[in-house]
Amino acid sequence: MKIAVSACLLGVPCRYDGRSKGDDELVALLAGHEVVRVCPEVMGGLSIPHPANEIQTAAPELRVVDSEGTDNTQAFLAGSRAATKKALDAACTCAILKAKSPSCGTGKIYDGSFTGTLVEGDGLAAGMMREKGLRVMDEHEAKFFLQNL
Ligand code: SF4
Repeated sequence: MKIAVSACLLGVPCRYDGRSKGDDELVALLAGHEVVRVCPEVMGGLSIPHPANEIQTAAPELRVVDSEGTDNTQAFLAGSRAATKKALDAACTCAILKAKSPSCGTGKIYDGSFTGTLVEGDGLAAGMMREKGLRVMDEHEAKFFLQNL
């Protein structure tokens, strides 16, 4: 199976804080599958490290803003489009994306207040991939999925 996977879950130190979220159990379960590595934030041109960003979920229009108040909406949109295109061009049928990220989060994201408050919603890349028909899941759901194929 061709699967788009968040680069940070594969051990790439591309997170906003310059670290990875490498998940050995997930990597082991991906053996035998064709993995397409994506990092929407790097693909959107954001440097690593950078301040944390959140989607302003209470704003009337889409805004992604960092903890210093810089509006990074365009970079997030560009990176999410690029990551979605890469997944589609590679004929991925599903995506395993890092939970809670403003790009990769699936189902729950931070609310934009930088208080650690989670709300229902997808990160931008996760939402775009879902709209394009990919099965999108976070690393926790993915382990159950891969173990039961
Ligand atoms: Fe990981 Fe996605 Fe953030 Fe890149 S954008 S560091 S892949 S969660």
